[in-house]
Amino acid sequence: MDSMTYRFRVIPPEKSCSKQLKILLDPENAKCSICLNVWHDVVTVAPCLHNFCNGCFSEWLRRCEKHPSVLCPQCRAAVEFVGRNHFLHGIEEDILQSDSSLRRPIEEIALLESYASIKSPLVINSGRKSRRKRIRSSTDEEIRLDSACPQCVNEYAGFQCNQSTVHLQCHLCGGMMPSRSNNGLPQHCLGCDRAFCGAYWHALGVAGSNDHPVCTGETLKPISERTILRIPFLAHEKNRHEQYITENCLSQAGKSLQDVISEFVTKMNNRQIDRTRLQLNHSEMITAQTHVCNECYDKLVSFLLYWFRITLPKHFLPPGALERENCWYGYACRTQHHNEEHARRRNHVCRPTRGSHVL
Ligand SMILES: [Zn+2]
Ligand SMILES: [Zn+2]
Ligand SMILES: [Zn+2]
Ligand SMILES: [Zn+2]
Ligand SMILES: [Zn+2]
Ligand SMILES: [Zn+2]
Repeated sequence: MDSMTYRFRVIPPEKSCSKQLKILLDPENAKCSICLNVWHDVVTVAPCLHNFCNGCFSEWLRRCEKHPSVLCPQCRAAVEFVGRNHFLHGIEEDILQSDSSLRRPIEEIALLESYASIKSPLVINSGRKSRRKRIRSSTDEEIRLDSACPQCVNEYAGFQCNQSTVHLQCHLCGGMMPSRSNNGLPQHCLGCDRAFCGAYWHALGVAGSNDHPVCTGETLKPISERTILRIPFLAHEKNRHEQYITENCLSQAGKSLQDVISEFVTKMNNRQIDRTRLQLNHSEMITAQTHVCNECYDKLVSFLLYWFRITLPKHFLPPGALERENCWYGYACRTQHHNEEHARRRNHVCRPTRGSHVL
């Protein structure tokens, strides 16, 4: 019997202690039918719901480019959708942890990862037949899905989609764009790996219409080209007292928010600030030229404002803020979120010196 005990952690909603639930799982059921290893960065295809390594399936997709449709490598059913499966990813990691003999060599993993191209869910056109079927079933939404990509209808910049073009769905407007990993136009936000259509259509000069939604170029832009007018709601762990103090510090220093952010973007770009607290994916790869979405930009600004505050000479602090002691739990303090007085009387823009979150 090849099965092993699989430990599964369940966190009850009210209590902080965690319970463990044991389930039996056969690692044979967690293998990719392309490479025959336990999945790595597992993706699931629909509608047949078979699972593969991201790298293995990405290679398969590339090989299908010239074919009229993409078939599942396991069951040969037409694939209409593929996306990363975060739930199974957790299982994949736990299996490898409990049986390290199933691990692959590092070089093999690196190669596999270099093939992996599925970052956000992909919608795959599976031939003319299924399209007609969709229109015949005629709910408004389904027709919209078909006509949602401008390049399916018209040629722009020498490219038009065909039956086997793989599409990305924009996270913001829900519109479709062809997935084109080799033409250099940004289609994903590096901070969250989600697909956004703004930069792509903006570069091609395509505007939206009633038939197809399209985002403006403002929605996915390089960090250095962005402007910021107000302190994001997320800044200083949403502690509005600290946000107010930061606002005061800016006027004391005679600088606009934009001045300070530009200055700190340069420092980040020159690797003069530690990125541990930057809560974005691929945080080490981010430069001033990186395209990010609005949400990720707000996170970045909040991170930079933390650095502005902790490196600010004390005399720029408003009188009331100057005498405050640091909260032991620093930015990780939970009390600041439900106790107004505590939030006001202690400084929370500092590193924790107590608790489990000490850095
Ligand atoms: Zn594989
Ligand atoms: Zn299948
Ligand atoms: Zn298209
Ligand atoms: Zn983002
Ligand atoms: Zn969009
Ligand atoms: Zn506190």
